[in-house]
Amino acid sequence: MKIVNITTAVVRYHGEATLVRIDTDEGISGFGEANPDAGAGGVVGVINSLRPLLIGEDPRNVERCWEKLRRKVFAGAQSGVYVIAMSGIELALWDLAGKAMGQPVYRLLGGQFRDRIRVYADCGNGDDPDGSVAGCVDRAQRMVAEGFTAIKFDIDNLGHPAKFDPYNHTLGTREIRDMVDRVAGVREAIGPDVDLAIDMHARYDVPSACRIAGELEPFSLMWLEEPTPPENPQALARVRANTRTPICAGENLYLRWGFRELLDSGAVDVIEPDIPKCGGLAESKKIANLAEIYYVPFAPHLVSTPLGTMAAAHQCSTIPNFYVQEWHALEERDVWDSYVMAPDGAHSIVKDGYIMLPDTPGIGVELDMDGVHRNAVPGFGVFE
Ligand code: MG
Repeated sequence: MKIVNITTAVVRYHGEATLVRIDTDEGISGFGEANPDAGAGGVVGVINSLRPLLIGEDPRNVERCWEKLRRKVFAGAQSGVYVIAMSGIELALWDLAGKAMGQPVYRLLGGQFRDRIRVYADCGNGDDPDGSVAGCVDRAQRMVAEGFTAIKFDIDNLGHPAKFDPYNHTLGTREIRDMVDRVAGVREAIGPDVDLAIDMHARYDVPSACRIAGELEPFSLMWLEEPTPPENPQALARVRANTRTPICAGENLYLRWGFRELLDSGAVDVIEPDIPKCGGLAESKKIANLAEIYYVPFAPHLVSTPLGTMAAAHQCSTIPNFYVQEWHALEERDVWDSYVMAPDGAHSIVKDGYIMLPDTPGIGVELDMDGVHRNAVPGFGVFE
């Protein structure tokens, strides 16, 4: 079996999501997805430039194909858009390998620890764009009523009226008070048994992060996510050393090497690699294995369509230290659901706060091409 072509489609979701299609000389095609954080233009450009390296390769040699891409430039020191593009290709290779061998991807990755994946609902700023306590409480209660056992809110706000400088990373007392009020309101509404994570999007300095982490200690968070920027794990380690609130980071790091210092410096209680961004299924499994030797749980960040979401769920079923996987489609739910035919013919792949792993070959979801065409971003072809 040989790869004969690699094409892309760009669809509207969390910005621009890049879908990847790999065709073979035996008429079997695999589909993958790259994370949308960097937009699609660069990702599609890199995939087009990598295509010649994989034409003629056997797609069942997934890790060899991936390593060939990683070593294309300077023996492998890759990051950013390049690794995001590699990740999208890698997911499609696993789908293809699974279909070619008649097995679900989780079986090719070593088999299952669990057949359903717990997901948490990212609730963003709540139902109110200004992130009022009442708007957050409304959304939290709706998600818990739907069956989610874990939720996440954002509390960072660069537009806060008490913020006097958009570039300064320091939190003022009034900003901290509003953040704490929001978390307190949500915790009171959902009770003590629902897991609650809080995200700060890497916007603050060490003293601010220490202050807010300490103030949030009474609310028994699942984690506080990226209170400081991602480039300096030693700074985050100082935050972690100063609080009982569990610290989580990793969605802006790439490959195994990107996580070495984060783990080694004791900067995190939980890691959150983004699977279609950090290198793909096999690479994120290696990162999870690396985290396990530090007894750190793996809770992947995810902002992908149901295709990338299900692919990530396959990997999460194969590692012992899986914690919970992100679901981030609350505000675009109809569009999100429109991209695939769910394995059981149902509307959505997420039910009662879980994703059930299908036992069909490959990733186990089929793209709904009507949904793809309807939400295709103008200026990009659809698998052309
Ligand atoms: Mg985050």
